[in-house]
Amino acid sequence: MGIQGIAGVLGVLLGVSGPHPPAGPVAAGALPAAPLPYLGGPRGCVIPDPSDTGGCVTAPIAWLTTQVRHRFGDLPVSCWDEHAWNPRSDHPRGRACDYTIGRIGAFPDRTDVRRGWELARWLRANARALRVHYVIFQGRIWSWEHNRAGWRRYLGGGVYDPADVTGGHYDHVHVSTVDKRPEWLFAAAAEPDGSRQKP
Ligand SMILES: [Zn+2]
Repeated sequence: MGIQGIAGVLGVLLGVSGPHPPAGPVAAGALPAAPLPYLGGPRGCVIPDPSDTGGCVTAPIAWLTTQVRHRFGDLPVSCWDEHAWNPRSDHPRGRACDYTIGRIGAFPDRTDVRRGWELARWLRANARALRVHYVIFQGRIWSWEHNRAGWRRYLGGGVYDPADVTGGHYDHVHVSTVDKRPEWLFAAAAEPDGSRQKP
């Protein structure tokens, strides 16, 4: 067993994620109650960023942050960002937020990993109500387009190093939304797991 293998085993024993992403969500328990759904129409990036970056966000992601706060409390969050290194990102378009899990730049401990997965699973379970397009956490990605595949391995999209703590989204949950009528994206997709949850 090489150094990486030993580090991987140690990581598993310590509950800390290493460069190899875990198989998927570690917490399979009950989720917080469902959010109130976003019912508005597309309006563009017109709302001041609730995470105080000075940028703008779209109405669906602004609504999502209020619903996350109601269910999960005040988590550190950052939404609008210029993201000059990744022009295809949803952050400069005001459609995405990053929820810090633990501390940016550090692999979170077992408790924080569970908290992060609780948020990531809840976002997926309520994707239709919150217009969620995709969620990335702990080297895994879920998206509407590949809903049936569940939490697939995240490969970095050609921009990020998936083995890096931040590039692999080990230290934060990324959530992207769509600022369009939900039929645009969701009509052909199956319901995400747990979406029959009552509000
Ligand atoms: Zn992000």
